[in-house]
Amino acid sequence: MKKYLIVGCGFSGAVVAEQLTKNENCKILVIDERSHIGGNCYSERDPNTNVMVHKYGPHIFNTSNKKVWDYINQFCEMMPFVNRVKTVYDGQIFSMPINLHTINQFFNKNFNPKEAEEFIEKQADKSISEPKNFEEQALKFIGKDLYQAFFYGYTKKQWGCEPKDLPASILKRLPVRFNYEDNYYSNIYQGIPRNGYTEIFRKMLSHPNIEIKLQTKFNESFNIDNFEHIYYTGPIDAFFNYKYGRLGYRTVYFERGEEIGDFQGNAVINYAEENVPYTRVHEHKHFTPWENHEKTIYFKEFSKETGNNDEPYYPKRLEEDLYKLELYLKEVEELKRYTFLGRLATYRYLNMDQVIEEALKIINE
Ligand code: FAD
Ligand code: UDP
Repeated sequence: MKKYLIVGCGFSGAVVAEQLTKNENCKILVIDERSHIGGNCYSERDPNTNVMVHKYGPHIFNTSNKKVWDYINQFCEMMPFVNRVKTVYDGQIFSMPINLHTINQFFNKNFNPKEAEEFIEKQADKSISEPKNFEEQALKFIGKDLYQAFFYGYTKKQWGCEPKDLPASILKRLPVRFNYEDNYYSNIYQGIPRNGYTEIFRKMLSHPNIEIKLQTKFNESFNIDNFEHIYYTGPIDAFFNYKYGRLGYRTVYFERGEEIGDFQGNAVINYAEENVPYTRVHEHKHFTPWENHEKTIYFKEFSKETGNNDEPYYPKRLEEDLYKLELYLKEVEELKRYTFLGRLATYRYLNMDQVIEEALKIINE
């Protein structure tokens, strides 16, 4: 019987394992250096409050891909959830992403959609035709005032550099709306699994031919002789022992707070200004509005440069990183018996639905 090795037990690795058992009679070993399955989507109940906590930061499942939505719904009951983010600037609470409410409140106006669009168009910097970076993207589409208020400080805190040194693609993730729609995402299907994410992984991986070994790190000394093929979802630079240098990542860390009742009245509140050291506050019980909890738990999220022992979270993808990435990718091409997939092995910012879609494609094409 063929044997496969999967390195990493996040969505990339779990989808590959689940699909392999469907497609052929094979043995699969899934290893992860952490002490749990689920990768960055791991969730568990907080022992003090019983609130479901997403350990590595809150995860809202959202996609417009029906195939991916149907796939994930085999393993959980997705509860309806809409992420309505607020942001604090200059002592006031605004709606985020930028929508008609944000625009009217910020400029103290009463615009209808058409008036707002015309007004913002006048604010926009028309000298920029092809935005080359984050700052130009913002100036071109929303103008200086909204950019300075809601994006400049937050982005400096989040990425640790000037927004003009970041790619425009980071900002393209957020819409600007000229109506009162305040849903953070624009995808058709959105939700949070009723019993958290870990249960999804348990179900995906519960098969007699799948063996899981936790706290098991893949490195040069790992014996791969018996395996037909290896699916690697860890960091690409670590695989090659950082021979061309480390790829740049930002990491985040959390400061926990707990109290009775309701701390902030919403799942996520961003802090736009630079002088507030954290970027946002997550209050996890608001991600499960179908549950009742007397106590609440919240996390202030801070961002910093990744030290050697920190979790790599957000790929920076600066020019020097992309240069190193090219060198690593060339080495991957030379490897036989390996497939690199997922956010770390391909050094891209990918949402859950994207990694699931890519893993399904890799196995089935
Ligand atoms: P991971 O989940 O990172 O899994 C990789 C696994 O490989 C890890 O468990 C790691 O321990 C293991 N590993 C690495 N190296 C080795 C090694 N050498 N040996 C053994 N094991 C190893 N996406 C959304 O769709 N919606 C959201 O709301 C959302 N929020 C996010 C919030 C934050 C703060 C972050 C950082 C990401 C968010 N994402 C969100 C993205 C989501 O986390 C990823 O799409 C998803 O986790 C990627 O899955 P993966 O399997 O590729 O990687
Ligand atoms: N951003 C910002 N202000 C906000 C929200 C987002 O400046 O209130 C910027 C920030 O640079 C962030 C990017 O927009 O990295 C993309 O936002 P998103 O919410 O997708 O980031 P994530 O949730 O992945 O951290």
